[in-house]
Amino acid sequence: MSFNLSSRLAERRAAHLYRQRPLLQTPQGVEVQVDGERLLSFCSNDYLGLANDPRVNDAFVEGVQRWGTGGGASHLVTGHSGAHHALEEALAEFTGRPRALLLSSGYMANMGTVTALVGQGDTVLQDRLNHASLLDAGLLAGARFSRYLHNDADSLRGRLGKAQGNTLVVTDGVFSMDGDLADLPAVCAEASGAGAWVMVDDAHGFGCLGDQGGGIVEHYGLSMEQVPVLVGTLGKAFGTAGAFVAGSEELIETLIQFARPYIYTTSQPPAVAHATLTSLHLLREERWRREHLAALIRRFRTGVDALGLELMDSPTPIQPIVVGSSERALALSAALRQRGILVTAIRPPTVPKGTARLRVTLSATHTEQQVDRLLEALAQAQQELIHE
Ligand code: PMP
Repeated sequence: MSFNLSSRLAERRAAHLYRQRPLLQTPQGVEVQVDGERLLSFCSNDYLGLANDPRVNDAFVEGVQRWGTGGGASHLVTGHSGAHHALEEALAEFTGRPRALLLSSGYMANMGTVTALVGQGDTVLQDRLNHASLLDAGLLAGARFSRYLHNDADSLRGRLGKAQGNTLVVTDGVFSMDGDLADLPAVCAEASGAGAWVMVDDAHGFGCLGDQGGGIVEHYGLSMEQVPVLVGTLGKAFGTAGAFVAGSEELIETLIQFARPYIYTTSQPPAVAHATLTSLHLLREERWRREHLAALIRRFRTGVDALGLELMDSPTPIQPIVVGSSERALALSAALRQRGILVTAIRPPTVPKGTARLRVTLSATHTEQQVDRLLEALAQAQQELIHE
């Protein structure tokens, strides 16, 4: 017996599902160099264009000078610096909650939170299109785990009726591969009727939704009682790295005591936390970024509609174009690349079979002319594939 890795890899290649890592040779931005080519990029999660903002970069350098480079230890040993603490306080104030806890990544925040809150004898219910980190956390928690139909309150209600023990209903705020919003008022109403708690992972909503950039909870005007567990990530609109959970004093203390991915890992570099204080300030104050994004989203959707391509029901910077087969998604992505435009093809298992797509993401640093260039290239690429 041996591990037959080569046949596994060959199968993946034959199914057009082989994944590759484009090599980025410039900082994040709308114009990048990838694998030696200058390209106009529409595939970053840097929605507000803060990942290479000079003021955030300067704050990062200042953070290194003040706090050094490494986190040095886990938070419970000597890794919890003043920089981390200041960011936690700022995030608590931003989300209007008593406390926030900083973790090294969104993946770990989701793992740590779900596994700390439910276990054997409990129930975790998740939207079936939730991010992989939430689904993995559901499997690891040891609780009864069931997925309800996407954004479907009836399906959720049916599962709540069979739930046992403490019940956690978990949903993405903005669905990462579709760009649509969770129907949170409906989810909260169902959960509260059944005495369950709601946890929202708003990785893609913070910074983009809500007047202040407070994400989906601000967008719908929901309270902490309705959404007791709120997760945000810092690697997207904030432009840095890491994640946070915001909630009550007791929730945060519970995570500090029981969330293994929090306890058993080195704290994020303190300079990242220091830089994030600046990006939080910009995210709140520079409202023009959200306004410009909204205008770009409208322009893009109108243009794609005119081309007769299939868009999803998304009001966010995530604007996927569903094309069906993985082969076709790859061909469209390659045709765009020939025209100097970078848009990644997203294929199963990241999305359901038969729904491979081009995941276009817009950024506040794109111009209207750049969006028009993308639309023109899409029209040409589509024509080229039809005539092939
Ligand atoms: N949640 C969602 C909805 C995401 O899309 C992602 C990452 N793309 C994560 C969590 C993980 O966050 P991080 O990259 O900080 O690990």
